Amino acid sequence: MIKRVIPLLDLRHIQRSASFPKAASAVVPASGHLLDARQRPLRDLRISVTDRCNFRCAYCMPKEVFDKHYRYLPHSAMLSFEEIVRLAGLFVAHGVGKIRLTGGEPLLRKNIEQLIAQLHQLRQPNGQPLDITLTTNGSLLARKAKALRQAGLSRLTVSLDSLDDAIFRRMNDVDFPVAQVLAGLDAAQAAGFADIKVNMVVKRSTNVADIVPMARHFRGSGMTLRFIEYMDVGATNGWRMDEVLPSAEVLRLIAEAFPLVPLEPSAPGETAQRWGYADAQGNYDPQLGEVGVISSVTQAFCSTCNRARLSTEGQLYLCLFAHQGWDLRSLLRNGSSDEEMSAAIAGIWGQRQDRYSELRAEQMAQGGSGEAASDGTTPPGRKRIEMSYIGG
Ligand code: SAM
Ligand code: SF4
Ligand code: SF4
Repeated sequence: MIKRVIPLLDLRHIQRSASFPKAASAVVPASGHLLDARQRPLRDLRISVTDRCNFRCAYCMPKEVFDKHYRYLPHSAMLSFEEIVRLAGLFVAHGVGKIRLTGGEPLLRKNIEQLIAQLHQLRQPNGQPLDITLTTNGSLLARKAKALRQAGLSRLTVSLDSLDDAIFRRMNDVDFPVAQVLAGLDAAQAAGFADIKVNMVVKRSTNVADIVPMARHFRGSGMTLRFIEYMDVGATNGWRMDEVLPSAEVLRLIAEAFPLVPLEPSAPGETAQRWGYADAQGNYDPQLGEVGVISSVTQAFCSTCNRARLSTEGQLYLCLFAHQGWDLRSLLRNGSSDEEMSAAIAGIWGQRQDRYSELRAEQMAQGGSGEAASDGTTPPGRKRIEMSYIGG
């Protein structure tokens, strides 16, 4: 039997943890293949290792909210590396093959490379190592790239919204120069990272003019640029639909400059649609590489969503737009056995119904604004969790 769940004392301003599903009280041996209530497997675990960041991107951690009075998690509330690795092992036994470390800014977490080295020791049920990746704003990458690679990090995603120094400084809102992020990308390539993705969030009023220069810069660089539609995550970024530039528009702008051909998805449940740069004959040229678009707003991909998210303090969320999580930290800290925690994870995933972006799309198709779309379960006055709390 699962032991009593202790509510988190330091819940992030929002909600109590959900009660564990009834199924969680039955022992469910890890089979390496868990399906949710919509028949979606659990494959991808995103772990937020800190809720802090040295940037203040307005679409994520606006300065007015995340100011000097903001109360970040105390160290004791955060999962330790040992706790993270123990939970990760249980998720892997249930079928997770990919782990993404995120935040906040994950490179601010002290000794992050030690966590990566420990995760690197885990094996999937078929004996294969994990695909471990990390999303960073790149500010500390020049210093850390080598150690990350040596620790066993296989891939890297770097967020970069503009090559224009003035626009980049304005978007990170802490006056951070773009040259240092570019130096970080160079260092990552020099350290041997072969699969580097660069993510650009596009806001209509801010960086549309940067789309083609970014495509030009990364075309043929060995790195893959991906454009992300500005999303209505959290409750603080003042999102409006008219700030979203649909991916179709992004592709149209790029294709005017560089011919593109569609590519197949590289993995089931992949969030990005892939397009390859074409040669003079109109065929995909791998030397020139590819671009991707992540159309979270205009083309929902919930039907294949195989991602779970673990917050810095050990709350499990089943959707980026969730308003409540499950308190796995209390299970860890009240002495639950691996079997009990494994059963809890199976029960939680087994009842998952989340499909927020699809519901938003349906609401918009019926003439709604897309703002505050709800799955009907958000109680009045409850806010959605912030992206900086559970990571992207
Ligand atoms: N600090 C790291 C970084 O920026 O890469 C990792 C955490 S950040 C929350 C993860 C990703 O979420 C970044 O690529 C960021 O651009 C993206 N993101 C944050 N807020 C967003 C929003 N409102 N819409 C779309 N993407 C967003
Ligand atoms: Fe920090 Fe990343 Fe959020 Fe920007 S997107 S504020 S870098 S956590
Ligand atoms: Fe997955 Fe939720 Fe995003 Fe849909 S809205 S793709 S369920 S995280």
